[in-house]
Amino acid sequence: MFEKLDKDYILHSYARNYVNFKYGINATLYDDKEKDYIDFSSGIGVVSVGHANKEFNQAIKKQIDQIIHISNLYMIEPQVKLAKELVTKSGFDMRCFFANSGAEANEAAIKIARKYGEVQGKIKRYKIITLKHSFHGRSISTLKATAQESMHNYFGPFPDGFVYAKDIDQIKELCDDHTIGVMLELIQGEGGVEPQDKKKIQELEQFLKQKDILLMIDEVQTGIYRTGELLACHLYEISPQIITLAKGIANGVPIGVVMSSLKDIFSPGDHGSTFGGNYLSTRAALKVLEILDRYKNSGEFDENMIYFEDRLKNFAKKYPNIILKEVGFGFMRGLRIKSSDMLAKIIDESFKSGVLLLKAGRDTLRFLPPLTISKMEIDEGFKRLDMVFSKTV
Ligand SMILES: *Cc1c(COP(=O)(O)O)cnc(C)c1O
Repeated sequence: MFEKLDKDYILHSYARNYVNFKYGINATLYDDKEKDYIDFSSGIGVVSVGHANKEFNQAIKKQIDQIIHISNLYMIEPQVKLAKELVTKSGFDMRCFFANSGAEANEAAIKIARKYGEVQGKIKRYKIITLKHSFHGRSISTLKATAQESMHNYFGPFPDGFVYAKDIDQIKELCDDHTIGVMLELIQGEGGVEPQDKKKIQELEQFLKQKDILLMIDEVQTGIYRTGELLACHLYEISPQIITLAKGIANGVPIGVVMSSLKDIFSPGDHGSTFGGNYLSTRAALKVLEILDRYKNSGEFDENMIYFEDRLKNFAKKYPNIILKEVGFGFMRGLRIKSSDMLAKIIDESFKSGVLLLKAGRDTLRFLPPLTISKMEIDEGFKRLDMVFSKTV
């Protein structure tokens, strides 16, 4: 019934699965027929503390009963607290701007870089270098920043000034007098769970520092403990000038954040957002940080993360005919599958068998479970996957 309504009334921009989820508990979802699914996708890396997390829900319910929204014309207490938490926990001397999505956070990052390129130096520097297979969002400029030409069909003309590097090494060659920034994901998410080489990133950081070119790290997917650390920047031991966050920070309440060490870059009027950083989304994010911080300090987070990693590695070894290799960090993992046809079939069959998984790039089976997934849920997920894979061989 709803399938027809969906097709009749929603623009067809998604290749949707027709399932009607009714409720969830942590990493398990239930549909309208009470069939259960192990959620290895967490709404594309969003539901960090799990579905229907009681402590989280209580916090946002309480906030809803007080104030949801006021606008950024007034100070917003949970926004201030969240900014302080993010800055303090990250260890970076930065300030924050709040938006509503990853694309918007990256838009703000691009504006920060462009303004910096305008106000310092003799000539306007405006070029931003991004990497092949990157993903930075769906707005017109973040789409242009996304170096996947196939996604640019139909939507031009685009804003100028984005330059694509085929890999980290080529970035140095592409830097010229007009380059103001390099924007990249430390582990490419949509592009195929592709971690960059740590040493190369650190060398790039030094190179860019000497040239006063901004290092802009898109942590929309990797941020907020996804890789096991608060930020992937910590894993790579770098200090960029701009960091963007979104997906996993507020458990599904829309939010985007840009953090920058260019603390005085914006003056009133330079940038803004009606909804960005309102009481609801920042209260939600504060609670997510509190829950994850406690979970991490208890040791249970790392224990379960390692448990998941072991299960995944053993699983990869069991099916060498299907799985080429296992990639990623923490709870951001991928299995490279022999062919894209096989991958499509696996995702489809897993869904039917009650496991939600994601595709990334051409041939990667992507795992982004809630960070609070239990050992039992991990076991159940792999048990179901085992059945799917043993039928696929
Ligand atoms: C998902 C994603 C975005 C876009 O985020 P939206 O909230 O969909 O706008 C940007 N960058 C990266 C790395 C992402 O994974």
